[in-house]
Amino acid sequence: MRSDRQFRSVFPVLCCLVLVLLAVNGRYVHQADIRVREASLFETALLAQIVHFSTSDLEKYVARSGVLKTEADRLAAEQAFQNLSETLKTWRQGDIRALSGISGQTGSQLDSIQQDSRELAPLLNDLHNTASVTRALVLLQDMERILDQIKEAVAGEAAEQTATAKQDLIFHQKIHTALIFALILAGLGWVFTLKKRNSALKKARGATLEQLARLTGRLDCDRVTGLGNYRVFTDRVTQASNALTAGQTLSVFCVDLETALLTSGNFDLRGENAVLASTAEMLRNSIELLEGTTCLARSRGKGFLIMTVTDDAPGLSAQEIAHRILALFLRPLSTGKGTFLITPAIGYAETRTSEQDPAELICNGELAAADAVANGSRHAVTFQPAMRTEVARRATVENALAQAIETNECLPYFQPQFNLKTGRIHGVEALARWYHSDLGWISPSEFIPIAEKTGDIVSLGWKILETSCAEVQLLPNALTLSVNLSVAQFHNDDIVAMLEDCLQRTGLPATRLKLEITGTGDLQHIQDVLTELRALGVRISLDNFGFGNSPLCCLTDFQWDEIKIDRSFSGRAVSDPKSRHILKLVLDVAETLGSEVLVEGIETVEQRDVLVDLGCVNGQGYLFGGPMAIDDVTTLFFPQHSQHCRAETSA
Ligand code: C2E
Ligand code: MG
Repeated sequence: MRSDRQFRSVFPVLCCLVLVLLAVNGRYVHQADIRVREASLFETALLAQIVHFSTSDLEKYVARSGVLKTEADRLAAEQAFQNLSETLKTWRQGDIRALSGISGQTGSQLDSIQQDSRELAPLLNDLHNTASVTRALVLLQDMERILDQIKEAVAGEAAEQTATAKQDLIFHQKIHTALIFALILAGLGWVFTLKKRNSALKKARGATLEQLARLTGRLDCDRVTGLGNYRVFTDRVTQASNALTAGQTLSVFCVDLETALLTSGNFDLRGENAVLASTAEMLRNSIELLEGTTCLARSRGKGFLIMTVTDDAPGLSAQEIAHRILALFLRPLSTGKGTFLITPAIGYAETRTSEQDPAELICNGELAAADAVANGSRHAVTFQPAMRTEVARRATVENALAQAIETNECLPYFQPQFNLKTGRIHGVEALARWYHSDLGWISPSEFIPIAEKTGDIVSLGWKILETSCAEVQLLPNALTLSVNLSVAQFHNDDIVAMLEDCLQRTGLPATRLKLEITGTGDLQHIQDVLTELRALGVRISLDNFGFGNSPLCCLTDFQWDEIKIDRSFSGRAVSDPKSRHILKLVLDVAETLGSEVLVEGIETVEQRDVLVDLGCVNGQGYLFGGPMAIDDVTTLFFPQHSQHCRAETSA
């Protein structure tokens, strides 16, 4: 690149230099040309003068005068001598003088002619005398000889000067030609270099474009599965949408593996990638068998996007295709890291018109998949317009949650807990409540999962704990307070120090506090912290036991102070003998382990009686009272205590 720049700057400099030299040399050529012209003019003039500079006329008249002795010949001889003398004088000046100055010999020759002419002058007056004539003729012949010599020398000198000037001219003309040639060469070199550079640039541009295309290709390709990414998929759906004709259906399927991978809990990143790669392979093979235009791509999350364009008849409907995809997962998937049974959530959306926005169609498919995930349903869900409203609401809740916690919009309500035999209230459970100015009351079952996802559950958990620890002191001292803790709180903070601090600030004795945690997740990991919390005097409760797939080993994993039986058991205990057996078993195990048991969700007297018959002592549920504000708890259950408190306050 540097040499290229040097080349490009050298050629113009070279051209300029040659141009300057050409101009200088041009001046020399011009001067040499003038000199050649002057030399040749001078040579011509000189020769003309030399022609006139002759003694032959004088000789002729002297000879005739000597023979004929006429006055006319004598006068003619005198006139001729006069002319010769005049000419001789001019030879002493101007160009001839310059010439005579060049050669010393010419000067002395002119001097001897001068001398001869001086000797000749008196003889011309005596031409009747034969001796004078003879002497004059001798002198004239001598002059003639010397003149011939001078003529020869002058002519030679003039010719030499002309030749030198011509040689000079030829030399400079040659230089001129060479310079013009060099200029042409430099110009050609410059043009050649520019051309070369141009083609190099073109080549480089081509290579850059190629590289860009390669990079874009790499960016568009999912590294794990080798499939196109979301952008590629959107392009393909747009193309298919534009080409959609009457009687065709364009469908988009979102196959979501995220929840399946998460709940299985068996996978590290490599394991996940192995599952994704094998699933991609399996889907690719199946999609290839479908008729019509298809496209398989990697979704933005841990899953896949499939597009199909099918004809009305005999083509498959979107629902049929969705079920076929789901059926592929009925068999365990063999991957590089083992064989697994993976059940995805599938959402799909379809359109029969090109007017549907392709991006919106994909979004609809994703919404349907999200709905399938949210409802825990591992089946194919078709898009419903109501899903958009749900998503919008979820987004509103998600965006408003952090601020609601900050500004105390989320506060605890308290659900009473009873001794089923005596009917006496012995504790309350703090349950978060949120009144949103636009959406009204929002249920914890809606915002708690969102808070878990966004991480807001940590600040919410501390806010509820602290507020309820303070408020519960408005109730009689014997009452316990149960507070739900999220596993996230165990991971994020120094929970023991924070709890100690909270108890100190609110003044609630540790023995009045029960912390509820659910048995799902890695209990092992938090057992040490739970042990430390118990050491403070706080009691630990296993919440929602029997819900979902909570394993029996949960019971023995830790020394629980209380086991809370999930509310689903209250209903089933009445109608289902098997549930009663299980409940009895759990009660026996708890007794053996030294844990208390509390049954949740008691809604009817019948349920209460069945539970009491089975040996359940403690319970909570709408039969006794739902979650309510602390003032309502005192008014409803401790009217005298509330009056006493009011009297104390007014005093
Ligand atoms: P949970 O701890 O099992 O709380 C009991 C849930 O059962 C509460 O739902 C309560 O209103 C409801 N419930 C009480 N009696 C009955 C009944 O007789 N029948 C029926 N069908 N339901 C009854 P809620 O208040 O909607 O809370 C739902 C869940 O949200 C709670 O389940 C708890 O896991 C979580 N949650 C609530 N507040 C907090 C909190 O402050 N922190 C954390 N980490 N979780 C909370
Ligand atoms: Mg609870």
